Amino acid sequence: MPRYDIETNELVYTSAESEPFGCPVCGAEQAYDESNLLCIRLQSPWKCPECGATGSAYDKLTFDGHRVALATLSPEMRQEFAADETIRKHCLIAKDTVMPTYEETTNELFFSKEESAGNICPVCGSGELDYGMAEHFDDGIVYPWNCGDCGSAGKEYGTVAFDGHNVEVCTMPVEKQAAFLGVRTICINRQIGKDDLVLSAVEDGSFPCLPGRVKDIDMLGTQVHTTGNTTDDVHVDFTGDYSDRRKREIIEADARRRGCEIPFEEICLDDVIMDPSCLICISGIGEQTLRAVMESEENALRYAVKAVLVMR
Ligand SMILES: [Zn+2]
Ligand SMILES: [Zn+2]
Repeated sequence: MPRYDIETNELVYTSAESEPFGCPVCGAEQAYDESNLLCIRLQSPWKCPECGATGSAYDKLTFDGHRVALATLSPEMRQEFAADETIRKHCLIAKDTVMPTYEETTNELFFSKEESAGNICPVCGSGELDYGMAEHFDDGIVYPWNCGDCGSAGKEYGTVAFDGHNVEVCTMPVEKQAAFLGVRTICINRQIGKDDLVLSAVEDGSFPCLPGRVKDIDMLGTQVHTTGNTTDDVHVDFTGDYSDRRKREIIEADARRRGCEIPFEEICLDDVIMDPSCLICISGIGEQTLRAVMESEENALRYAVKAVLVMR
């Protein structure tokens, strides 16, 4: 299963979970238009012609070196590197270890990855490289560049390895979204789905401000929705490590509704069907705050107000 990134609302597929030239959502084959160089990753945006989803394929880039056209070097520089025996003896500006190889057939200087770095002009050390369109070959990539500082022109070489896809969830077909993200519904402060932590906000119910975990959501209008309720049915597990004070409060609230008091152990808390408009999502609550919420209804109420007003 791909990982869901809540920040970007994207599904993240690893290279093991997806294919380089296939839509990770529906499997359709596809090509990429143009790639963007993002530091050590290559991003290739795509739109699936079959299912309409949009996303990006990513490749890990490993820097392999630079080739610089000797003809573009300044006259002084060119003189230093004109003859290959000179190249063996000389170093480039202020870098004692730099020892490029002269390639006679192309009249270029080759700087290996040990002698140079990505995004840095190997001749003058400037970071002002102006890159042109990338060219792919097998599992490699070449970026032509011009140095804005010393005027030399060259190419940066890299090895490309497929690193997975990101898919924008909102562009996926609805049924696929549900399959990946599960059924979701809107509660008081935001969307909730399976495994979200919630706080009940029923003022006079049996579960006053209790924290629980969403077990399941039965959508209104589907076959699984078997109650007569007019909203989605949210199944919540309210069992927890409550303090004695909180247990007493739960017993009393239950007795008010039931008309008689029963022991705490007999109150069913493990699968309570709730109206989503009576739930506050508290996923992301800290361990200590959760303990305070389990401690007393007063604490829980205070937190509920904060959750709705501040963390909306
Ligand atoms: Zn597709
Ligand atoms: Zn330069």
